[in-house]
Amino acid sequence: MSQSTALSTVGFIGLGTMGREMALNLMKAGMTVGVFDVRREAVEELAALGAYAASSAADAARSADAAITMLPNTPDVEAVVLGEHGLLANPPAGRLLIDMSTIAPVAARRMHAQCAAQGIEYVDAPVSGGPIGAKNATLTIMAGGTAQAFETALPFFKAMGTTVTHVGASGAGQTVKLCNQLICGINIQAICEALALGRASGVDLKQLREVLMGGSAASWMMDKLAPAMIDGEVAAGFRIDLMLKDLRLVQEQAHALNVPLPASSLVTNQYLDAVAHGEGRNGNQALFRVYDRMTAQTSC
Ligand code: NAD
Repeated sequence: MSQSTALSTVGFIGLGTMGREMALNLMKAGMTVGVFDVRREAVEELAALGAYAASSAADAARSADAAITMLPNTPDVEAVVLGEHGLLANPPAGRLLIDMSTIAPVAARRMHAQCAAQGIEYVDAPVSGGPIGAKNATLTIMAGGTAQAFETALPFFKAMGTTVTHVGASGAGQTVKLCNQLICGINIQAICEALALGRASGVDLKQLREVLMGGSAASWMMDKLAPAMIDGEVAAGFRIDLMLKDLRLVQEQAHALNVPLPASSLVTNQYLDAVAHGEGRNGNQALFRVYDRMTAQTSC
């Protein structure tokens, strides 16, 4: 670890499934981390491991080189950044804001402009790799913003991820993330369809998956989610409601740019069906239950 990395300080806001692990990895890299979440128990857990337990987002970031947000959705990030007592009004000493949540690219660009007007850098840096990538510090990080801000943020990114790329100007990170999510959503749906057809045809689903993993249909989703689909395990890593949020962001961006995305529209509706049937807090593998209903199965 370089000396500058060891001296880095960061305020981390949002200690959920992803943020908890990411903040821990910053601490493991020798950084001084102030933490804040509206769930006090999440703050206290990390404080017991050496983080500074902040009383607000601004308090977490006040004396830090940067503030990192890892929050559910666009309005949450806007509240923490633009709110009356937020990070724009009370910026970190290093005047750098890094949002690693998945939010609307247009909102990222808006916040970037508002920050720039006050001499504050804003980097949108959403991630891929899920809770396992967050825990193992192997996230893929796609960042948008100025090259200078990206370079400044790099020590933080390297403590949390392995594939770290500056993909362009403000909002580009969120756009690349939405492209990632539309592929993931459609891939999950394709796996559900293959399993539904295989099940109705009487083939062994575990063997079906093993065979497909050895061929050109293999994918991260097939590897990580198909076993849970087959076993009917629905506990979340990445939740159905967060994927629906991402697919809605995909639709909004596509509509704004007049880009037809028929497959994304279809899978978005299936996620709406899943949420309407109470699956929002379950993991993405629970999309298979939509196929259970369509094929009158009750096993999963
Ligand atoms: P999560 O819901 O588990 O965690 C969000 C945390 O933010 C919670 O602890 C919540 O209490 C906190 N929070 C909400 N509003 C707050 C506020 N105003 N101030 C402080 N804390 C607040 O979500 P997650 O799974 O960790 O995902 C976070 C972001 O990362 C989302 O945008 C998600 O789409 C994205 N993401 C998630 C995964 C995944 O696999 N879970 C993977 C890649 C990207």
